[in-house]
Amino acid sequence: EAKLDLVTKHIKCFPDFPSKGILFRDICPILKDPGALTAVIDLFEEHVRQTHPQVELIVGLDARGFLFGPLLAQRLGVGFVLVRKKGKLPGPTVSVAYKLEYGEAEVEVQEDAVAPGEKVLLIDDLLATGGTLYAACELMKKQNAEVIGCMVVIELKELNGVEKLKPNTLFSLVQY
Ligand code: 5GP
Repeated sequence: EAKLDLVTKHIKCFPDFPSKGILFRDICPILKDPGALTAVIDLFEEHVRQTHPQVELIVGLDARGFLFGPLLAQRLGVGFVLVRKKGKLPGPTVSVAYKLEYGEAEVEVQEDAVAPGEKVLLIDDLLATGGTLYAACELMKKQNAEVIGCMVVIELKELNGVEKLKPNTLFSLVQY
């Protein structure tokens, strides 16, 4: 499809970033091109309208989930909520810890950001091991929200993040 081609053309590849042996997929060129950014949001919107018309809230992940999430939420006429790395949000928060390759990290949300039973879709730029999105799903469940799906622009297939995410489901635009 033409829209998907446009998106794929605007993903750049950086070997050995942020460390040796890592092939980093950069979404910055998508944001710089209005047509490519519109295509990303169009494709997400089509998917949500067809598959999750009941969505009540878009939840974006720190930091690149913040670039796509609000645009999609506006299209759908629903709100947007931030899941941040620990220590960035004011007021009462809830958090979930998760393992990184080295050490641990925590994702956090404002306590009153999500209502019990609310139907939420999570969004980020990229799925690698799935650890980050899985922790964010756990955080939503801790707040008694109903996770109806996860969405990313890019899925790195060989890391098998989809398995890690289960029983949460994933929709991705581009796969490597
Ligand atoms: P995971 O928790 O799935 O292993 O890693 C996903 C998180 O790391 C996402 O928040 C994503 O932004 C970031 N990330 C990991 N690798 C890449 C990459 O190659 N490109 C981009 N844009 N983000 C990455």
